[in-house]
Amino acid sequence: MDLQKIREELLQKRSEIIESLSNNNSEDLNEKTGVDDAADIVASELSRETLYKLSQAERETLFLIDIALKKIENGTYGVCEECGAPIGEKRLQAIPWVRLCIECSQNEETIKSFSSRNEDISYYHIIPDTFQEEEENKNIPE
Ligand SMILES: [Zn+2]
Repeated sequence: MDLQKIREELLQKRSEIIESLSNNNSEDLNEKTGVDDAADIVASELSRETLYKLSQAERETLFLIDIALKKIENGTYGVCEECGAPIGEKRLQAIPWVRLCIECSQNEETIKSFSSRNEDISYYHIIPDTFQEEEENKNIPE
C-alpha cells in the first residue's frame, strides 16, 4: 500500500472540496478571510465560517479526510476502527478515508456500537451506498 500516494489523494480531495467552496462563494469568502488562493485556504486551519458554508456531506468528507491523514501520520492507517483488521486495499483505493472494514461497515450492530462510543456519530454516515456499489463494480476477481 502506497501511503504517500493515498496521502496525496486525500489532500487532493480536501483541496477540491475547499476550492469548490471558494469558487461558489469567492467574493464572500475573500471578504471574510482575505485569502483568494485556494492553496492558502487549504494550508490554513478552516474557519468556522468556512465550515458553515460547506454542505453537510462536504463537511463530513473533510472531517473523515482529516482523520485519515492523522492515521497516516501515526501509522494506524488502513486498520478497521472496530475490529482492528486490515481494511482491504481495494476498499481503501475506492474510499481512502474509510474507517471500517467491509464486514463491520455492513453490520448494523457494529455501526451502532461504533457510533455510540464516538462523538462524531453524525459524521460517520458519510460513507454513502454509492461508494460501496462503485467498489463492488471495481472488484477484480483474483
Ligand atoms: Zn472491522
